[in-house]
Amino acid sequence: MVGAPAPAAPGAGTYTVVAGDSLYGISRKTGTAFNTLLSLNGLSSKSVIYPGQALQLSGTGTPSPGTPAPAPTGATYTVVRSPGSPGPAPTGATYTVVRGDTLYGISRKTGTDLNTLLARNGLGLNSLIVPGQVLQVDAGGPAPAPSPILERRTIGASVQGRPIVAYRLGTPGGRVVLVVGSIHGHEQTGETIAQRLRDSTPIPAGIDLWVILSANPDGTAANSRTNANGVNLNRNFTARWEAIDCAAYARSCAGPGGASEPETQALQSFIATIRPTVSVCWHGPDNVVDEALVYGANNKAVLGAYASIAGMRVATVPCSPSGYCTGNATQYSNSNFGGSSFVVELATLGRFGMSDATMDRHIRAVFAAANAG
Ligand SMILES: [Zn+2]
Repeated sequence: MVGAPAPAAPGAGTYTVVAGDSLYGISRKTGTAFNTLLSLNGLSSKSVIYPGQALQLSGTGTPSPGTPAPAPTGATYTVVRSPGSPGPAPTGATYTVVRGDTLYGISRKTGTDLNTLLARNGLGLNSLIVPGQVLQVDAGGPAPAPSPILERRTIGASVQGRPIVAYRLGTPGGRVVLVVGSIHGHEQTGETIAQRLRDSTPIPAGIDLWVILSANPDGTAANSRTNANGVNLNRNFTARWEAIDCAAYARSCAGPGGASEPETQALQSFIATIRPTVSVCWHGPDNVVDEALVYGANNKAVLGAYASIAGMRVATVPCSPSGYCTGNATQYSNSNFGGSSFVVELATLGRFGMSDATMDRHIRAVFAAANAG
């Protein structure tokens, strides 16, 4: 072909995939040799194609005589939007899909809201994406990459044998900060935030961060406040432990003695090992930074720093049933090791009850508290 006069080659240009197409069928329909079709589009014979996808056929434009055609880049096809769904104006920024990408992951990587990403590219949540596919994303470049998990430490096991796991991120040797997503198994919003903190958040330098998603994995699995023995773990710590009548006050059952429960033992020994300067225990749904559980906290500025970023007030939530708090995790940490360990009562209980923006505010509040500690 090179050097020949330039009649339009059969099939030159692009072809837009329609429902029911196969790569082989497109090769026949367009008169483009099967292997040429694959190599021009960076595909293999097993690649997935989808309606609306534009495929290069036998090259775009005619090569000048004597000049070799440009080598295919492997990423030369683009998604075209179906007519009638223009979507928001593109920003000019694009992202090229790589192996292993998901739409959700790309949303995170590029800092593009998931719904925006879908609308802008004419995609649905279940749309297939393939390596090499070019997507319109928000300008401003990719968000900073989340910090990697440095250590996954199993600190104990629940009554039913579920592991209790602490994840370490950030700067080992820095200021030690502990975040507990939940201790009451039905209060699950904090677990979602803890997960976001662990998986998709860059950690500021200087913070030696430990994240526990749930200190009560049996309760989380059963969506129950107590552990599998019916004990409210946040009444079971050895600090100021008092018996609470489990028949009369099932939600507050303190167990047969301080640290009678394996989950409490695991958390106590972990706290004794890492001795956090600041720890945040998420609960719900009273929507307050809780002063009542602080006893012994040596720095109230820490609570204020959290509250101001999170847009919450600092107030007292009395412990049931007596009104004063006994056997709390925060009391254990504060009275034995100093530092500032406190409860944040989130506004919601549900696992997905909070927007990404609100979760990010709570995460920034943790970092603010860490810096005030
Ligand atoms: Zn709670």
